[in-house]
Amino acid sequence: MEQYPMAVVTAPGRVEFKKRTLPPFGSHDVLLRVKACSICGGDLHIYKGKHPLAPLPMAIGHEISGEVIETGKAVSKVSLGDRVAVEPVITCGTCYFCIRGEYHLCENIGYQYSSGQGGFTPYFVVSENWVHLLPDFISFEEGALFEPLAVAVHACCKAQVELGHSTAIFGAGGIGLFLLQVVKAAGGSEVFIVDLLEHRLKTALSLGAHFSINVAEEDPVERIIKETHGLGVDRSFEAVGVEKTLRQSAESLKKGGICVLIGLFEEPHRVLFPVNLFVQREIQIRGCRGYCWDFQVALELVRDGKVQLKPLISHQLPLSDLRKAFEILLDAKAQANKVIIQL
Ligand SMILES: [Zn+2]
Ligand SMILES: [Zn+2]
Repeated sequence: MEQYPMAVVTAPGRVEFKKRTLPPFGSHDVLLRVKACSICGGDLHIYKGKHPLAPLPMAIGHEISGEVIETGKAVSKVSLGDRVAVEPVITCGTCYFCIRGEYHLCENIGYQYSSGQGGFTPYFVVSENWVHLLPDFISFEEGALFEPLAVAVHACCKAQVELGHSTAIFGAGGIGLFLLQVVKAAGGSEVFIVDLLEHRLKTALSLGAHFSINVAEEDPVERIIKETHGLGVDRSFEAVGVEKTLRQSAESLKKGGICVLIGLFEEPHRVLFPVNLFVQREIQIRGCRGYCWDFQVALELVRDGKVQLKPLISHQLPLSDLRKAFEILLDAKAQANKVIIQL
């Protein structure tokens, strides 16, 4: 059987290409020629050996687009030559949550990469249920970004953003920059975006943020409270995964406001939080996990021109430069947003 290289993190800071044979091909599966795979914050956690749920060695890459080059006998949703984005989950379909349609909470949820199939590889086998057709005007590079966009859509729904709501987004990485656009599409008014990298804040402003706050220069809570005339924002999003920003996203809230937590904490058991805020200000903090029927919404938002994918792409590199791509992402001077590997 033929073997293909696939990127695996074998030790902190070490990416190796391991040979693999393709997984068994079922009647509802499709074979993709992978065309683009974007590097996610989660991949960076794995690369550093600090992903709390992904012990090394671990395959990487789950923001994938490609072309259908083979279909199983029972496949009806896609045809040869179709261009698709991959929803990289594996669910059991039979547990309590799957039957309720809440497949992101599946008792047996897995991801393709943690089941041995990363995206930095030329071929990928996936069920037809987990591919989504790309609009013609969307490139494969942009198509790889539907996964983080779906995360942002899910987070916005969890926050129940309403017309006129003010929002603060902590973290202007890929998720933050998509959230900004999704929140505005949902009717949000003033958007504050908070980060410490100036180039990301610039991108956020060009995508329609009203206020950018560089935490290296000013205190975000003070600024948000001042600009909202002492009230705070209706909704906040923590898309960093750090104790300090979690506290700040709660402290920036208006009374009765809701904060949605998206960031993955590398040190999850060491969080100090001013818990009396819950009672004193009747705030809520909500969790948000992955996506569930959110790729469909993400596709509609892009089709309608309400969300742009391209401005987030800062670098495009060939597969042979994958190691360099990680170096770029970890180098603040490189001014990276989303780094895409082309295959
Ligand atoms: Zn991702
Ligand atoms: Zn399940």
